[in-house]
Amino acid sequence: MPARFDYLVTGGAGFIGSHLCERLQSEGKSVCVLDDLSTGHLENIKELQSSDNFHFIEGSVLSVETVNDCVDMCEEVIHLAAAVGVENVIKRPVETIETNVSGTENVLRAARKNNTKVFIASTSEVYGKSWKVPFKEDGDIVLGPTSRNRWSYACSKALDEFLALAYNHSYGLPVVICRFFNTVGPRQSGRYGMVLPRFINQALTGQPITVFGNGTQTRCFSLVSEVIDCLLALMDSPDAVGKVINVGSTEEITILELARRVREISGSNSEIVLVPYEKAYPPGFEDMQRRVPDISKLIGLIGICPEAAIDTIIRKVIEYGIPEGAQ
Ligand code: UDP
Repeated sequence: MPARFDYLVTGGAGFIGSHLCERLQSEGKSVCVLDDLSTGHLENIKELQSSDNFHFIEGSVLSVETVNDCVDMCEEVIHLAAAVGVENVIKRPVETIETNVSGTENVLRAARKNNTKVFIASTSEVYGKSWKVPFKEDGDIVLGPTSRNRWSYACSKALDEFLALAYNHSYGLPVVICRFFNTVGPRQSGRYGMVLPRFINQALTGQPITVFGNGTQTRCFSLVSEVIDCLLALMDSPDAVGKVINVGSTEEITILELARRVREISGSNSEIVLVPYEKAYPPGFEDMQRRVPDISKLIGLIGICPEAAIDTIIRKVIEYGIPEGAQ
């Protein structure tokens, strides 16, 4: 094991984290992963474990001591550990708020000691119910009431952004903050609510494809490998320091159309059914109608953006094998 690592990846056994670790390793970088395996899986990093350049620590970002030790061993930190998926957030609100807020606080505090560069993963959820599509990073955010706990996720991530920006402004800590828009790809689980792996699982196993609401809500889906291209390019861009940057595709698709494409591309006979929101989610849920990023800042900084077409993405996920569906 090296005395120092090029990167600490928190949440490195998760979906985005494990793809990122594979990439870093293929580029010859040494990586230390901190993950509590709450939603990440050892299976995701199995192939990496045999390398001398890779080290896995099972632990939580809520442990100040563990976070300090990990950050001290690494040149840069990519902080991805967070509560995952809408369902998880609604079912476990305390864990969501604590993990997202205290975890990031611990990482930033530890990084401050040696002025270690930190990447903070935020989310398009932060825009909430804003109707000003496409969403610009400096646009107003519109969240629902605190009685609807879906909004705790957006609010906790917004607080992470405030805190990271404050560390940058007050202490000069180099931070890069990205808002990811519906990142998908091979190996993503449908267990925590994510729509694409669920639809593909349903289509490939002959179950009904469950579209929540009337299916007119839209999303823009980005392929994980392209999101990682952007993440790493932004970490290498001095101009990205101290900024919040949208990372997503601009190809907007309704969820009903997504279901149709999945059905067609997979050659499935599954029927597409509309499930009312009251049946799909516990009380306290509100969906977002449209979610599209303005990516001019991203392009201005690094000249690239996620651009794989949704049909290509669906094919890649299908090729990889049947994703885990809802539990
Ligand atoms: N959705 C759906 N069927 C499912 C899972 C999700 O129609 O089995 C819908 C969900 O209500 C939302 C969209 O798909 O409108 C995207 O949901 P996801 O949880 O993937 O991401 P997010 O809501 O965070 O964008």
